[in-house]
This record gives sequence, structure tokens and C-alpha cells, in this order.
Amino acid sequence: MNSDASPAYPAPLPNEDADHFIRTAINLGATEAVIIPSSQIMVEDYLAELCNGKPVCPNYGLSPSCPPHVPGPSAFRLWQNKSPWCVVIRMDFPPVGPLTQDHRDLGHLLHEIVSGVEHDAVIRGYTHAKSFAGGSCKHLFCYDFGSCRVLSENGPCRNPDTARPSMSGFGINVARLMASAQWKKPPDSTSMSWLAGLVLL
Ligand code: SF4
Repeated sequence: MNSDASPAYPAPLPNEDADHFIRTAINLGATEAVIIPSSQIMVEDYLAELCNGKPVCPNYGLSPSCPPHVPGPSAFRLWQNKSPWCVVIRMDFPPVGPLTQDHRDLGHLLHEIVSGVEHDAVIRGYTHAKSFAGGSCKHLFCYDFGSCRVLSENGPCRNPDTARPSMSGFGINVARLMASAQWKKPPDSTSMSWLAGLVLL
């Protein structure tokens, strides 16, 4: 076998679909979006285990979109195998304080972007499309409710169209994802910050 052989790439996406998904992400508020093979997403069990590590994440167990309620890295690898391409999305913004309304608004926007691209993908026939964001939907969407309605009442989600699971609970290595997208960290992290999301197609 030739060790210099190029990596196997899946059949290309139709250009009009690729352009459409990138345009949708940008129109919804993304700073950049790019399509890469899903095989380039690195999934690591130990990253998902950090959610219940020491210290445990404050969002652990608060909603169905975080561990232990998500099926984790093993399920993600199955989805990854069914979805040859993905859209990687990044939002840049000036730093905001944690647990502020600005922080929630930005997290909320990220969920709107990835769920919007997912929605478009399903309409275009990518029926396996699934989107992932960051942060806890309990913190971002239901912060003024005592508890998640799905978990506490076995009722419907209050935000089914936009609330999406966090990449963390699936062990997705976000730093490697940024590298696969060929994005560098903002040069001055004191003046710019970023959030990332993902849509499997
Ligand atoms: S009800 Fe709120 S906390 Fe529960 S899954 Fe939906 S958005 Fe998340």
C-alpha cells in the first residue's frame, strides 16, 4: 500500500447544496461555515467523560441534551458513518461575561444557526441531518424555569425547533474540528472569542 496515498473522500456534495448550507449558516449569523468530510471529526471518549468528571460540569444531567441523557461517543460514531459530510460553523464575537444575558443570547444564536442548517438539510433530502451546538439548553433556553419539562414532567420540550445537544457530551474534539476546518484561533483572544457548532449531513 502506498503510504502517501490521499485520504479517501466520500462522493462530493452537489455544489448547490454545499453553497446553500454555507449561505444559510452565514445568513443566520455565523461568521464562517465550511463543509468537511465527517470522518475528520475526532471523537474521544475521555472528553465526554469530563462532563461527569472532577469537577462535574454544572450542566450535567439538567436536560436531555447533556450527559447522562445523551447516547454519547458510540452513538455519534454511528451517525458519523451514516453522514459522509458535515457543516462546521463558527461564530466570532467580542468576549462577554459568563452567565450573562449576552452570553445566553450568543449561545441561543448558535443553536438557531445549527438547527436552521439542519432544517434546511432535511428539506433537501439529507434525512440523517443532525445538529450540535455548545452549552446547556437548560441554561440557554429554560434558565427561568425550575427544571427541564422533558425530564421533570416527561412533557414536550419548550424549544424543540432550536434547542440542540452540546458537542461536549459526544466527546467531539472541538479544537481538532477547528483545525480540520483550517481555522486558527482568533489572533487576540482578549478581544475576540468564538463558539462552534456542527451539522452532520
Ligand atoms: S425543555 Fe428546555 S431544558 Fe428541556 S430539553 Fe427543552 S430546551 Fe432543553
